[in-house]
Amino acid sequence: MSKSATAHTVASPNTQASQLAAALVLPADREDSALSLRLKHYLKSEDIAQVWAAYRYADQAHQGVVRKTGEPYISHPVSVACILADLHMDLPTIMAALLHDVVEDTDLTTEDIKQKFGQQVADLVDGVTKLDKIEFQSASVAQAENFRKMLLAMSQDVRVILVKLADRLHNMQTLEAMRPEKQKLIAKETLDIYAPIANRLGLNEIYQELEDFSFKYLHPMRYNAISKAIKAARGNRKEVISKILESIKRQLTGLHIEAEVSGREKHLYSIYRKMSGKATSFSQIYDIYGFRVVVQDLPSCYVALGALHGLYKPIASKFKDYIAIPKANGYQSLHTTLLGPFGTPIEVQIRSAEMHNIAGAGVAAHWLYKSSDAQLTALQQKTHQWLQRLLEIQSDSADSLDFLEHLKIDLFPDEVYVFTPKGKILALPKGATAVDFAYAVHSGIGNSCVAVRINQDLAPLRTELHNGDHVEIITGALAKPNPAWLNYVVTGRARAQIRHFLKSQQSTESAHLGERMLNQALRAMHIEPNKITEAHWQKLIRDYGLKKKAEILTDIGLGKRQNVMVAHQLLAMAEMLEEAPEGTLGKFLGKIFGKSTKPLDTITIRGSEGMAVQFAPCCRPIPGDPILGFINKDKGLVVHTHDCPAIRKFRLDPDKWLDVEWEPESEHLYKANLNLTVANQPGMLAKIASGIAEAGSNIDNVSVEEADGSSYANLYFTVQVKNRIHLAELMRGLRKIPDVVRINRSKGNAAAHDTKAS
Ligand code: MN
Repeated sequence: MSKSATAHTVASPNTQASQLAAALVLPADREDSALSLRLKHYLKSEDIAQVWAAYRYADQAHQGVVRKTGEPYISHPVSVACILADLHMDLPTIMAALLHDVVEDTDLTTEDIKQKFGQQVADLVDGVTKLDKIEFQSASVAQAENFRKMLLAMSQDVRVILVKLADRLHNMQTLEAMRPEKQKLIAKETLDIYAPIANRLGLNEIYQELEDFSFKYLHPMRYNAISKAIKAARGNRKEVISKILESIKRQLTGLHIEAEVSGREKHLYSIYRKMSGKATSFSQIYDIYGFRVVVQDLPSCYVALGALHGLYKPIASKFKDYIAIPKANGYQSLHTTLLGPFGTPIEVQIRSAEMHNIAGAGVAAHWLYKSSDAQLTALQQKTHQWLQRLLEIQSDSADSLDFLEHLKIDLFPDEVYVFTPKGKILALPKGATAVDFAYAVHSGIGNSCVAVRINQDLAPLRTELHNGDHVEIITGALAKPNPAWLNYVVTGRARAQIRHFLKSQQSTESAHLGERMLNQALRAMHIEPNKITEAHWQKLIRDYGLKKKAEILTDIGLGKRQNVMVAHQLLAMAEMLEEAPEGTLGKFLGKIFGKSTKPLDTITIRGSEGMAVQFAPCCRPIPGDPILGFINKDKGLVVHTHDCPAIRKFRLDPDKWLDVEWEPESEHLYKANLNLTVANQPGMLAKIASGIAEAGSNIDNVSVEEADGSSYANLYFTVQVKNRIHLAELMRGLRKIPDVVRINRSKGNAAAHDTKAS
């Protein structure tokens, strides 16, 4: 690994940028140029010859163009190639880096690149070009779109995103030349999108530099204040630091542990984040310094840990074993915090040389060592899985903002680790609940989970999981996702799957309702629905520009199309295809002229309708009540009682409503509103509640209204009953309770029950 990728001190972005600029000797194919020196480390001379061919081609193409910084344009692709050469990226990637702006900025095409340098390089350039075409817009929707495209590019070939990240890093290093407003826009985009992706891919150095540059341009004042404070601390603590460093070295050598020990300063933005997160001031942040111990192999890590714990006392709560349980981006290390001299907390990371390489280069480490090492393969697999999961979420998410939310959650890996019943470790974001776990295991388990056993104890599904929990999901054959789960799931995957399920369920229900409504309209026109043939439907579907019959039926169920209209159109199809049942034309025309030959049938309402049919919360109809249905564009069919005040104005306009009736002998429970006036004395609520339970009913909601100084209180209940008879029995029972002064069912008194009329 090259010097800059293993640098022990994270240089402030300023110095690193100027170092790179100063070292950049043009033309790049000179023996002593920055790129030349880097490539010699790991590429064969015939490969390097190919790099220079790409370089000369790009140089020619950008001839005469000057960057805002005043340098010739080619200096930019060369710098990008240098960043990637530091990661020891392969030949096609380096060539693509040199050519990455050619298609975008000159007349040359991807085809030209393919002719000259082959398919692979051309594909990489094409991928980067497509990403470049993304116009930066501050609107979050546009940003989500950017994310989508980037993901698609990544899933094709992660090298595309590596070139793009290097491109962005160099642009950040030379951002000074831009206008301040432009600087802020680019910095924000970098902080929101590019830095998290670099972090997720384990490109630690690039990630930290991207964050620090973004911070510098987004908050110049804070950036300056913190860097000044760090500079001061650097001077003050020099002695302490070197003393600690020496004693760590001595301790390890004394125990014959071969190790490279270094002190490093944390990157600025992480210090800032810590300060703003905990509202601490700078003087309280001891940990601008961290120590790193790199040993030869995995077992030595634990030996070294023991040695250090023998030197200074560890702070027990701060120990983390990322070797046994690696982070999602493949990062492995032991983290411990020791109580040093003068009570200074000392953060130490202990890792093997191999872990160290992955910690710096992340997913790029694959190109660094083309070995068949199981570790790297596992990391690649994990990255691949992650991308697949994101793409899955992407295809399930209806809108871009939703998707962006999911992605942001997924990109900030504050994770908890839990065990499956088979002992497998699952990483979930902090705050994840049993439902998230269920969906992480399998969408089928998520869709049918009913309860959970956490460390052998039964717990509700909403229970938040903690590190080390043993989680076992209990499923039910008839269980279905509950919309309430959306309130407490935190993973994008669970959210997307639940939404997807609910949406498809709603459209199934709506299609079902739509079909009944259409049949009703057809019968009113004396057409038996089964007389409508597939050919009629096909023609109508084509005319509407749709694909499936179900779409039309769903639209009817949701009130987006009128059943009577669709029935007429179907009939017109039949006339046109000359297969119409005899005599229908006359009736059809009669209908057009407003002489309906038969009133519409009624639609039967079953209790289990769910989302396509809703019972209006204002009047809460129950079986036995005369009812009317209204088609509402967003809610589908909403059922009210005949006398509900909310619908008074529509009642005179029969075009707006549908005749509906109850299905006989429904076993479903329905909500009804009750108002009670009772003597204001202790224990009343309990007496009424037990009265409701005795009648075989449940309380869905209750609120109490006590007037000051009054000896009476008003209670508002929403109870669940089977029908009017059940409700009447319940009310009779409650009337018998002493001190119940008045009781009545309320319809259309929505405010008291804290619900909205539909
Ligand atoms: Mn570029």
